[in-house]
This record gives sequence, structure tokens and C-alpha cells, in this order.
Amino acid sequence: MRSFQDIEASAQKIIEICGKSQLKKSDKDRLLKIQAEMHASIENLLECELCSCISNLLVEIKISGVSAKTCRDCGIKALEAGEIKKTSSRRKSSTTYNSTTRAKHTKNTKPEKKSLPEIHTEIENRTNLKKTEIRKIQKLIDEIPTPMNLTNTIDYISREVEIAKLKIDSDALKVAIKLIMA
Ligand SMILES: [Zn+2]
Repeated sequence: MRSFQDIEASAQKIIEICGKSQLKKSDKDRLLKIQAEMHASIENLLECELCSCISNLLVEIKISGVSAKTCRDCGIKALEAGEIKKTSSRRKSSTTYNSTTRAKHTKNTKPEKKSLPEIHTEIENRTNLKKTEIRKIQKLIDEIPTPMNLTNTIDYISREVEIAKLKIDSDALKVAIKLIMA
């Protein structure tokens, strides 16, 4: 299972880098690279059409006109049985991904899905804002006395940015606020 080992090795590398007492830009670049490799390895994992297990190597078998991509075990079983039994009601299990739990406590809590540094990096990637500017925007949002909806927050922060005479492009600001508040 090469892919699983690759993913595990990548995770290990990420843990090592994050464990350093001080990270440099080269470390961040390495993290991004490892993350990309990890992502590719995960993408390479395939689902057996018979038992739904995840494997990085499927075999394609064809018995009396029916073909299926299966894991090794299912392939052997099907060949021994001389037929491919496809389960008709194969359900995808990824649809209900915690949409209900998230709806319950959206009000003032920070979303659990991404950490602030991750969000800031995303803003950096999607806009031409600098880290320092993003931090300033974050600070302004954190300092909002009473939480408000996205539109009002954008209006409010835009004014604050003007007052503070920060030179921040309004579109970039919107993207940043949306991502921070997402
Ligand atoms: Zn299988």
C-alpha cells in the first residue's frame, strides 16, 4: 500500500516541521509542497466497486459481461465465485458532512475547520494583501463590539480601514473579511 505509506510519511514530515521552535519561509514552502504531495496521494486512493474499501490499487475484472474495478480480495472472491455481485444500493457516505452540527453553533464561535494562520495564508494567496495588513483586518474584526452579519461587517470594517488610513483595496478587503468570517 504505497499511497498509505506516502500519506503517513508526509504527515510525519509536517509534524516534524511544525514541531520546530521557529519556522522560516523555507519551512512554509516545504509544508505547502508536502501538503500538495499528500493531497495527490489521497486523490490516488480508489474505492473498490464491490466492498467500498479504499485501496491504492484496484484490479479490473470481467466475468460474463459484467466488469468491475475491485480490491484484491473482492477480485479473488469474484473469480472464485465465477460472478460479480454488485451491490445495487451503494451509498456515498460523504454527503452529510457535519452540516447539522455546524448550523447549531455558528453565532459567535470561530469555525473549527480552519485555523487562523490557514485562513490568513488563504487570504494571502487569493489577494495581494500582506500578512501585516491581514493581521490588521483580523484585529479590526476581533474588536467589533457586537457581532453582525457579513454585509454590515464589510461596511463597518471598510470605514475602520478608512479611518485608520490603511491602503487596502476594497475588493481584497471583502475577500479577506468573507474568508475570516466564513
Ligand atoms: Zn473490495
